[in-house]
Amino acid sequence: MLIDKYNRVHNYLRISLADNCNLRCFYCMPEEEYDFTPSSQLMKADEIESLAKTFVQLGVNKIRLTGGEPLVRKDAADIIRRLGKLPVKLTITTNGTRLHEFVDVLEEAGVRSLNISLDTLQADTFKHITRRDQFQTVLNNINLLISRNFHVKVNVVVMKGLNDGEINDFIAWTKDTPVHVRFIEFMPFSGNKWTSNKVFTLQQILQVVEQQCSFLPLKNEEHDTAKGYIVPGHAGTFAVISTMSAPFCSTCNRMRLTADGKMKNCLFAENEMDLLTALRNGEDVTQLIQQNIASKAKELGGQFTADFEHINAETIHNRSMIGIGG
Ligand code: SAM
Ligand code: SF4
Repeated sequence: MLIDKYNRVHNYLRISLADNCNLRCFYCMPEEEYDFTPSSQLMKADEIESLAKTFVQLGVNKIRLTGGEPLVRKDAADIIRRLGKLPVKLTITTNGTRLHEFVDVLEEAGVRSLNISLDTLQADTFKHITRRDQFQTVLNNINLLISRNFHVKVNVVVMKGLNDGEINDFIAWTKDTPVHVRFIEFMPFSGNKWTSNKVFTLQQILQVVEQQCSFLPLKNEEHDTAKGYIVPGHAGTFAVISTMSAPFCSTCNRMRLTADGKMKNCLFAENEMDLLTALRNGEDVTQLIQQNIASKAKELGGQFTADFEHINAETIHNRSMIGIGG
């Protein structure tokens, strides 16, 4: 098992399949010219499978595919099928634009639950955030996956002055639709122009919902990053991921593998372990994974404290979100 010095067991791996994307969300992908990694430096399907198997031998029982956009990769279906054969709960985070092409393969691979990102219910705001005109495709695909009985969580990054006015529209959506909305606090990454005054916090989100309706807390699982709630009588639920105002590092069980095969023991870790080069050189990857977990910081990659109002984003050493894998 992968246990760090704070006694946290790491059994959840998030694998980035691509550091590119067919959308351009400004909070994820830097506006200035962004260099995608050349494909020779990206993990190939058999390398992803091999590394995933090593992690499974070390106790991993849940794998999430992410990116960039995982479904822009040409061999995404092949990778989903291969990983579907491992003894893990397989899931995916996607922008939803290509899900209609993948619904069958996801079903075949045993994926039952997935996260789809949609920050707004307004087509023009979608275009402003993503710099692409794909709102209706994403909404149609969310409905398609719900109709095929997938457990659909919708990720909404809430940014002050941009989409905080839509919180209760998302709550209204949960009334008759079994959709599970997850409001995410805006996080700082390289090149995303984060400032603390753009963060709309857990408390602020709950206050906004309270003005409209009453709700009850849901029972959270030990490793949940989201605090869940339900409006009585609604078919769906909502939750808040409060990374900035109330981090959940003490129960963290997550590790990440970037598309170029670097292991990150935390979303905010500066330190990376190059597993792909080691694998290609025939070195012992297991030992490197263990070393990387042993060096995991207590919270937030050791780069900033929980007092998010005083973070200077310029001093954080990290990749952009699209380069890490969300
Ligand atoms: N392309 C896929 C998608 O959009 O769902 C997967 C990758 S994306 C990086 C994963 C998640 O990270 C998305 O829900 C996205 O909204 C979220 N995300 C990206 N940048 C973020 C930021 N700066 N703060 C909070 N969440 C962010
Ligand atoms: Fe692409 Fe997802 Fe990042 Fe948006 S959040 S740019 S969809 S990777």
